[in-house]
Amino acid sequence: MMGQYIDQQDFILIKNVEFFGYHGVYDYERGEGQRFLFSAKLFLDIEKPGETDELEDTVDYGAVTSFLSAYLKDHPFKLLEAAVARAMEEAMLAFPMLDGMELTLQKPEAPIDEPFETVSVTRQISWHDVYIGLGSNMGDKSAYLSEAVSAMKENILCRDVAVSKLLTTKPYGGVEQDDFLNGVLYMRTLMSPKRLLAYLQSLEEEAGRERKEHWGPRTLDLDILYYDDAVMDGEKLTIPHPDLQNRLFVLEPLDEIAPHLRHPLTHKTARQMMDDLR
Ligand code: ATP
Ligand code: MG
Ligand code: MG
Repeated sequence: MMGQYIDQQDFILIKNVEFFGYHGVYDYERGEGQRFLFSAKLFLDIEKPGETDELEDTVDYGAVTSFLSAYLKDHPFKLLEAAVARAMEEAMLAFPMLDGMELTLQKPEAPIDEPFETVSVTRQISWHDVYIGLGSNMGDKSAYLSEAVSAMKENILCRDVAVSKLLTTKPYGGVEQDDFLNGVLYMRTLMSPKRLLAYLQSLEEEAGRERKEHWGPRTLDLDILYYDDAVMDGEKLTIPHPDLQNRLFVLEPLDEIAPHLRHPLTHKTARQMMDDLR
């Protein structure tokens, strides 16, 4: 599924649905309410329903419309940004058949002094394919790893979680320390890269991880290896993980759970990267 960007996909468009809502910063907006409109693009593969002509093979756009309308009526937010973000996340969870969604919320009677037609906020969300490197070399290593895996399985923003076999490896980076237990986890997530990193760090913290020395002993290390075909290089986040091609303890489990997956920059599979290493 990797590399399926929602702008390349089929979609169903629901346009300019009106409702009366209470979103706004001002008291009168929260009290009296006003007219809003929303539009939604529903991204999903429509090849199958195109052939079968069966409702069960697609998403019921009437049901999605009612869901969004009810959510946006019943949950007042100060900001259109927040209303859009929350409504679309709830709708994605309520309709698992959707791969992604683009939601626009319009406020044609917004408090703007100049004559204007409308103001709107648009955001996109979709399920992303991610691979996470798992590692531990302190305490009850397998318990730390399985607790992290359980946490991701229970998180509603994560689905289709699959884990490789765990393997014991010698420490990396030249620091004297205990052996590692390593593996790779695959899942689909609604989280952005930034949010995913923060979430993984919160799991590391729950496992009592302290950051003392780089490559030093740790109860839990969760690294983002791949996020779809994304390539990014920032101060806090580099994707794909910049060292994955040099690590057998990542490549071996990656080859087990995703033998056909290719690195977005080198286009190499895990097996090809392992052959390069030997
Ligand atoms: P390495 O990343 O070489 O395996 P490490 O996992 O021991 O080293 P950490 O102490 O876990 O390093 O993380 C250091 C910083 O790396 C984090 O604070 C995070 O901001 C940054 N980082 C950059 N890219 C990634 C990534 N793809 N996954 C996780 N953390 C990343
Ligand atoms: Mg690491
Ligand atoms: Mg790390």
